[in-house]
Amino acid sequence: MKTAFIVGAGPAGMFAAQKIALAGHQVVLINRDIKPGGLAEYGIYPLKDKMKFGLRKQFAKVLALPNLHYFGHLTIGEGCDLTLDDLRAMGPSVIVVSCGAQGYNQLGLPGENSKGVYSAKDFVYHYNLLPLCASMDHSTGKRIAVVGMGNVAVDIMRWLLKDCPDRQTEEVIVIARRGPYEAKFADKEIAYVEEYIRRDEFMRELERIKPACEACHQDLSPEKLAEATFPFLNKSFPPEQRPKLTFRFLSSAKEIIAGPDGRIQKLVVTENDLVLKKDGNTSAKATGRTAVLNVDTLIFAIGDKHDPKLGLPMGPEGFATKPAPESATEPIYEAWDPAANRELEGVFVVGWARRASTGLVGIARHDGEKGAEKVLEYLQGLPDRNPLSPERLLAIMQAKGLNPVTEQDIEVLGKVEEREARERNLSSFKYSDDNTMLEAIQKEREALSAAG
Ligand SMILES: Cc1cc2nc3c(=O)[nH]c(=O)nc-3n(C[C@H](O)[C@H](O)[C@H](O)COP(=O)(O)OP(=O)(O)OC[C@H]3O[C@@H](n4cnc5c(N)ncnc54)[C@H](O)[C@@H]3O)c2cc1C
Repeated sequence: MKTAFIVGAGPAGMFAAQKIALAGHQVVLINRDIKPGGLAEYGIYPLKDKMKFGLRKQFAKVLALPNLHYFGHLTIGEGCDLTLDDLRAMGPSVIVVSCGAQGYNQLGLPGENSKGVYSAKDFVYHYNLLPLCASMDHSTGKRIAVVGMGNVAVDIMRWLLKDCPDRQTEEVIVIARRGPYEAKFADKEIAYVEEYIRRDEFMRELERIKPACEACHQDLSPEKLAEATFPFLNKSFPPEQRPKLTFRFLSSAKEIIAGPDGRIQKLVVTENDLVLKKDGNTSAKATGRTAVLNVDTLIFAIGDKHDPKLGLPMGPEGFATKPAPESATEPIYEAWDPAANRELEGVFVVGWARRASTGLVGIARHDGEKGAEKVLEYLQGLPDRNPLSPERLLAIMQAKGLNPVTEQDIEVLGKVEEREARERNLSSFKYSDDNTMLEAIQKEREALSAAG
């Protein structure tokens, strides 16, 4: 038997862990958050209950594997609870890094630190009640600019227009660098908010950008656009008083201007031309023209990036992996040190840690499982080692003043939250800060042991 340490219990880490444990090895799963699940718990839209419940059930099955041990509420990295070297010193045969992409791309604009300007990652973590983000101010106003046109941006539009409990939203303005054909959201996601798009304003916006799009041979007729990216153009919705969703295409955020209270008051955008590239794709090219939008909130959804604090070298798309040979048809999972031009022996990278923002949970699962296959091949070539028992590992961590939560704690917490949901007549309930979760676990454990 060999021991694999896995850093990060999102979908990629959970399913990698399952595969390695089912092959008979001991797995130690370490996670920053108390709860497992990563973005499946704290990213996916709160009302996608069925998907969330389904994933939680699968994760509970993984945590119940007898040779898998969970250590939650433990952050790995430089200046964190433990470093990768601390983990190596505990003697695992392999370390799998599946910590996702915890940073985000910044706009890099003057005024970016104004109040009311948020990254999509923090905003989503906030409404999904990730401890720390949950208690930070993410108040929104009446006119909100959302930068980006992917599925994450649509989740944010949906929250602002429909589900945010204390919303004051009058208008959400989507700021898109390119045109309507370059929208990246899925039909089924935009369907949640399309009734809020004002057809007359949308048509006026198409008129504004028509010359630039037509120069790239794009047909902006409603029939064609409905087929490609904006199905709402084929539908009709009953007139109703509701906030509106508008689009400002061919525009890039340029400057944020704050009011006397320090909160964003105006967003200056640069107007772009659309350029047709040789490969048939388009790119945006700034013109000298600008426009000023009155907004009191700005949320930018322009992609994720990796947290170098973890202690692995960075590559172009995530933590660096061994360069792929020309003939490679499959991803490479072995971690790599580009400066030394060598493999980091016994370290593998999977999921969003390997490539940020690559699609849905199913893809992260597949990546975790494929990476786990490579790990299993690697382990085959190693001698068996007497693994450190989970009790011994816990003792080492406690000697460092750390108190990770275990798989039993997670089971107890799940039961407490289910009971809270029933008592409050809610479909689900979750605590939003670490101390309350830890207290709830302890109280329940004491009650259980008192009851025998
Ligand atoms: C806003 C949003 C909405 C989404 N909606 C959907 C959807 O509707 N449907 C769908 O299929 N997919 C959706 N996705 C995509 C899906 O969530 C991801 O594909 C998937 O979660 C990526 O899995 P991962 O395990 O690689 O990373 P993550 O899910 O990010 O998991 C990383 C884990 O690592 C832990 N971690 C991080 N840093 C450290 C550290 N230093 N030490 C220890 N642990 C650490 C974290 O606590 C976390 O548990 C959405 C994503 C986002 C951002």
